[in-house]
Amino acid sequence: MAQPTTRGFVIPSEARPARRGRNLLAADAGTVFLVGAGPGDPELLTVKAARLIASADVVLHDSLVGPEILRLIPPTAEIIDVGKRAGKKLLAQDEINSLLVANARKHQIVVRLKGGDPAIFGRAAEEIAALREAGIAYEMVPGVTAALGAAAAAGFSLTDRRIASQVLFSTFSRRADGNAMDWSGVTPATTLVLYMPGPDYAEVSARLLENALPAELPCVIVSQISSPQQQVRWSTVGALASQAGLPAPSLLIVGRVASQQAAELAEQFWSRVSEKQDTPSISVI
Ligand code: SAH
Repeated sequence: MAQPTTRGFVIPSEARPARRGRNLLAADAGTVFLVGAGPGDPELLTVKAARLIASADVVLHDSLVGPEILRLIPPTAEIIDVGKRAGKKLLAQDEINSLLVANARKHQIVVRLKGGDPAIFGRAAEEIAALREAGIAYEMVPGVTAALGAAAAAGFSLTDRRIASQVLFSTFSRRADGNAMDWSGVTPATTLVLYMPGPDYAEVSARLLENALPAELPCVIVSQISSPQQQVRWSTVGALASQAGLPAPSLLIVGRVASQQAAELAEQFWSRVSEKQDTPSISVI
């Protein structure tokens, strides 16, 4: 049952830290590693993620995990695609949870490979709850989340101290069971990172304007971060409405850090880089 605490916070019981040792670990079962695969470029994997992928008995991965990373899985390992893409679900979340538990009972090293970081819009909480319930040992291995990959691609700091004081990772794409975005924390010094913005930029622009963000506030969309197809498109909250959609996955960053000055600096930089290289790997539009 929800209990009121100070400053109006209500902490649902399922979000309280689990009591240690409540469930005995299942004897002989393996460990499930919830591993972040980063945004796509295998060089952005952590050393630990690369080591675990190379030693996995089985890998259960999302559709966000790209082919270059899947190629690192040894031929001896079983590969299970549990990928979910908006609308087209391959497996329901509880089926994925059951598969994790069943595989941990059969194998020693079970890698649950997720795009970006497993704990950011990654449904890790449900999977962890199922593993705890079944007494399966698990470990999380963080990855480079899309927000960080996008900022690196666009070439600015999410927390540029001259113009930003906080970063908010959020999404409009929550179903009835999820929390809606809380706008009260958005200030002129907020860098707002919107995961899963979807293909309808006009609707996204309207939602931002409805919630009192100025039409001239800069924003940037980064598509297919860190892949050879990466695209960076600079815009503003108002102009976003008429932008053509970029290929999924894409991420939207809104705030003063995505200013014209940042855009110009990035453009000059990448044009100098592409003069030096035969095939520019990054396109800035
Ligand atoms: N756990 C992931 C996020 C999963 S939600 C992470 O930490 O990055 C899926 C959303 O993440 C996508 O709709 C998109 O907004 C963003 N995303 C993930 N990978 C991306 C990529 N390579 N390029 C652009 N956006 C990406």
